[in-house]
Amino acid sequence: LRVTFTPIHRRDKGITGTIAVLQDVTEQEKLEQSRRQFVANVSHELRTPLTTIKSYAEALNDGALDERELSERFVGVIRNETERMIRLVTDLLHLSRLDSNQAPLRRRKTNVHEMLDEVADRFSFQLRQKSIRAAIVVDRDLKSAWLDRDQIDQVLDNLISNAIKYTLESGSIELSAHKQDTATIAISVKDTGIGIPKKDLSRIFDRFYRVDKARSRNMGGTGLGLSIAREIVKAHGGTVSLKSELNVGTTVTFTLPALQGEGETA
Ligand code: ADP
Repeated sequence: LRVTFTPIHRRDKGITGTIAVLQDVTEQEKLEQSRRQFVANVSHELRTPLTTIKSYAEALNDGALDERELSERFVGVIRNETERMIRLVTDLLHLSRLDSNQAPLRRRKTNVHEMLDEVADRFSFQLRQKSIRAAIVVDRDLKSAWLDRDQIDQVLDNLISNAIKYTLESGSIELSAHKQDTATIAISVKDTGIGIPKKDLSRIFDRFYRVDKARSRNMGGTGLGLSIAREIVKAHGGTVSLKSELNVGTTVTFTLPALQGEGETA
C-alpha cells in the first residue's frame, strides 16, 4: 500500500485535518518488477555471446590467427554467436511491436490445409535430417480461417521448430486443425519428443524461460519463441495451451476465430 497524507488548511484556523489516501500498488509493483527482470534477462542474454566473441577475438589476436584450422574454428564460433544475437534482437523487436500494438493484423481468408502443408514444406529439410515423420490432419469441414498469414506463419514456425528441436531422431510430429465449436478453430502441433517436466509447465510461456538453458542455447533458441506465439495468438483473439508429458511428448494448441460460413469474407 502507498499512503499519502495531505493536510487540510483553513484560513485563520491552521491545519484542521488530514486527508489520507491509501493506494493499492501491488499491480504496479508487480509490473515494475517484471520489467526489471526483463531488462536483466535481456542484458544477460546479450552479454553471454558478447563475452564469447570477445575472448575468441582475443585468442585470434594472441596467435591463433597463425594456425589456419584453429582460426577457422574460432571465426566459426564468432559467426554463430553473432547470428544468435541477431536472432535475439529480431525476436525482441518483434515482441516490442506486439506489446505496443504496432503490428496491426492484416487478416485474410486463409485456407488452413494449404497453410499447414506449406509450413511442413518449409521444414522438410530439417525433418528429413532427423528422420522425423510429419503428418497433417485437417477436419474435412474446416476450410478457411480469418487470420494474418505472416503472423500465424510465425506462430507455426516457432511451434514446429520447437517440436523438431525437442524430438529425438525418428520421432514424429502431427499438425492438425479442427473446429472446436462453431466460432472457433483449434490448430495443434504434437510431437513425440522429450516433453517438459510438470514443475516447468506453468512458466513455459514466460519470456526467456527454458527448461534447460544450455540445451536451448545450443539448439539456437532465444527463449522467446513461445512468448511471441502467445502474443500473436492473443492479438487474433485466440488462446494457446500446452500439454506435455516427460519422455512422451508435447502438444501445443492454439485457437482462432472461425470464418462464419464458407465463402464469406467476414
Ligand atoms: P526456445 O527458443 O528456447 O525454444 P521457447 O520460448 O520456444 O524458447 O520455448 C521455451 C522452452 O520450452 C524451451 O527452451 C524448451 O525447454 C521448452 N519447449 C518448448 N517447446 C517444446 C517441445 N515441443 N518439447 C519440449 N520442450 C519444449
